[in-house]
This record gives sequence, C-alpha cells and structure tokens, in this order.
Amino acid sequence: MSSNSMPEASAHGVDVASLKNHIQSNFEQILEELTSLVAIPSIAWESFDPANLEKSAEAVAALAKGAGMPSVEILREPTDSGAMGAPAVVARRPAAPGKPTVLLYAHHDVQPPGDEADWNTPVFEATRVGDRLFGRGAADDKAGIMVHIAALRAVLDLVADFGVGVTYFFEGEEEAGSPSFRNFLEAHQDKLAADVIIVADSSNWAVGTPALTSSLRGMCAAEITVRSLRHAVHSGMFGGPILDAPILAAKLISTFHNEDGAVAIAGLVSNDAADVDFDEAEFRRDSGALDSYSLAGTGKITDRLWNKPALSVIGMDMPSVDHSSNTLIPQARFKVSMRLAPGQDPAKALEAFEEHVMNVDLRGAEVEFKAVEAGNAYLADLAASANGAASWALEQAWGVVPVHMGLGGSIPFIADLSDVFPEAQILVTGVEDPDSRAHSANESLHLGDFQHAIEAEALLLARIDSEGL
Ligand SMILES: [Zn+2]
Repeated sequence: MSSNSMPEASAHGVDVASLKNHIQSNFEQILEELTSLVAIPSIAWESFDPANLEKSAEAVAALAKGAGMPSVEILREPTDSGAMGAPAVVARRPAAPGKPTVLLYAHHDVQPPGDEADWNTPVFEATRVGDRLFGRGAADDKAGIMVHIAALRAVLDLVADFGVGVTYFFEGEEEAGSPSFRNFLEAHQDKLAADVIIVADSSNWAVGTPALTSSLRGMCAAEITVRSLRHAVHSGMFGGPILDAPILAAKLISTFHNEDGAVAIAGLVSNDAADVDFDEAEFRRDSGALDSYSLAGTGKITDRLWNKPALSVIGMDMPSVDHSSNTLIPQARFKVSMRLAPGQDPAKALEAFEEHVMNVDLRGAEVEFKAVEAGNAYLADLAASANGAASWALEQAWGVVPVHMGLGGSIPFIADLSDVFPEAQILVTGVEDPDSRAHSANESLHLGDFQHAIEAEALLLARIDSEGL
C-alpha cells in the first residue's frame, strides 16, 4: 500500500465513509464539549483546589452517560500512604456474548498553568486560533477523553447491534504521578478487565502523520558514594598523595560513556530499530543544545532516544563553591539515573551498572552502590492482532500509513497496566503532535488530527465488532 493511500469506502465489515461523515457532522458539538471540560481547572497537585477534580469527574461522568454507558461510577482508592486518591470515572458497557472488551483510558486532570503571563490566550478558556485549539488540557488529555466519548457515540449510532464491550477508565491524577493508580487497578480489577487497552495519552509523529507509540524506555537509578579519607584534612598538608573524593567520583563518572558519548556499561541492551529519524537541526533547536556542542552517541537520533540506554548524573552532594575551603573532601555522593532500552530488565541493568562501578580502579577508595529505583520498559507486540487493526484504522482516518514511534521517557502506568492485565493487548495512541506543548504554556490541539483520532478509534471499534480480534 502506498504511503498516501485513499481511504476505502468499506472494508473489514466497516462502513468507513459513513463513520467519517457522522463524526464530521458532530464535530462542532464535540469541540463545545471539549471546551466545557477545558473550563474546569482540574489540577491534581496538592496546592490546588481538589473541588475542581470533583467537578471535572462529574462533567466527564455525564458525558460517559450521554455516550450510551449503562453504568457510570466515580471511584476513589487510597494511595500507599493512606491519602485518598483523586476521583476516577469508570463506565461500562458489557460485551455481548462472544465479543471482546476494550478498555479506553485517558486522564481528566491537567498540568498547572505555570506562569500565566507566558500564555497568549486565557489558560482555561479553549480558544481557536487557525487550525488549533489552545488551552490547558485542550490536548493533554481532555482531547483524549473526547476521542473515547465521540468514537463510542459514533459506533453506537451507526453500527447495528454493536456488541463489543467498552469500559471507560478516566483517571484524575496522572499529572500528579498517579499515586493511587496501582491500588485502583488492583481494587477494581474485575471492572477494568479487558482484551484490549487503548491509552489515548501520547503523541502522533507530526501534524498529518499518525503514530502508534510502540515502545517506551524503562528506567533505573542508583546512589553512589565514593570515600577516600576517614575525615577532611588540610589540602596544603596532605594534598598530593591524597586525591579528594570529588576527583575520584569524577574519574568514576568519566568511565560511564565512551569516546563517542554512548553509554559504556557492558551488558546493557541497545538496539537500532527506528524506521524514522528526527532532523538534527530541529532536534538541536528543541533541546536547546549550544551550536558548539556535538551530539553524543551514534546511529539515528530516534534510536539514541528510544532504543538505547542513556545515563545522567542528576544530583551530587559535596560542599558548595560558596562554602568551599582549602580542605580535601573525604566523601562525595551522587545519583545516577538511567533510561533503559525496550527489552532491558531493569534489575539486570542495575547489576551490570554495579559491576561496572565496582571494577573501576579508584586507588582503593571505598565505593558504595545503592540501587534506588527500577521501572520496566514497554515494547508493543507489533504482531498482535489489535496492532494490525489499529494501524489499518489510523491509515483509513488520516490517509497516511502510521509511524511506529518510541518514547524516550517512561509512562509508569503503562507498566502497571501490563503487570495487572498481562493478557491484555495495549495500544498507545494520542492526539498530540510535536507542536502541542503539553505541560507548557500555550498548549494546543490540532483540530484536523483530533478529528482523525476520533475517526480512527471509531473505525477500530467497528472493525473489532465485525471481525473480532
Ligand atoms: Zn497526559
């Protein structure tokens, strides 16, 4: 199939043209509903009014009811520390006998506005400028909620005897790190069980080019302490034979990358798997890299971001410059955070890292290694049936073959979903594009891509109804 194929009128038992027309004719109403969600400043951070989360949960629950969900609940579960989590909306439409169930995930909480002076339009007033809709949550992730609402309405209106089970799970604390998410999944495992989970909280490749996010890097972190002296001593009396702990720590840190700037820890997974790449000039601009700085690592930039490990020192304890004196510092402590390639077991990565650290010659200085964090990477099974069906639906909606994209970061709740529901196929889709500026000032949604995202999900649900998985 060419990369710019025309949508088929009807295929896989789905009337593509009618579904697209139906969504087109309801699009203004969908935008009004999105606008009313954006008007609620539903921020799950502790310093913001939690009443807005209740309001937004109620507004979303009303939309779910209106979309044809016979059962709609607002549920909360405590976090591990005992505090009550934010309200989540769970709505269910049970599957007809023999039909699969699809869980549709999005989140109704948003990031704080940041400095309102940086916004060109009112933060919580969805404002259309050209082909984009500006406002906090207009993309991340209230548009994700509206994709799920509008797609279900379309298939219920147009597909006779639509029998696929559909569950909405709209969480209310994603931007605050989902503190009660794991407990929530475990407490409501029966209600949330599904054959396919569609997470609408990611990005497309570019405006006009859809993507499935098919890999996420994992992560791990360790705290390392280097000690060369029992106590601090005068640098004039002892400096020379004795190297201070910061110098030894720097010597250790310098072994973490090779000459090219790639991570040099033996035994870590590293892949060349991306079929697309970023433009270097654009990447340099987005990252704020200085003109004189040459990028680290080798291979495609996308592989360096998505499919290879990355290692940074994110904190260091030693005296500050303002409080420095002519003293040999006995101990230095630093924290290393690593992003891990898909397919990498984080526990194995920590073992490999510890082995590397312990084998660097630091003249017999004492080195302590403490693992502090580990999170799994995610790799979609591209051969799985839901992936093929979703690729078809995206291509029908956009008229362009979707890109299989990686993400350099982690989405911790995806790992939780695949832990609690190991049998479910997970699809990561989204409405954002590289200009959406989610989390920043002037967040916006591209209206054409938004419409296509609704079309794609409706087409996918209709295809699963007609063909199964
Ligand atoms: Zn989000």
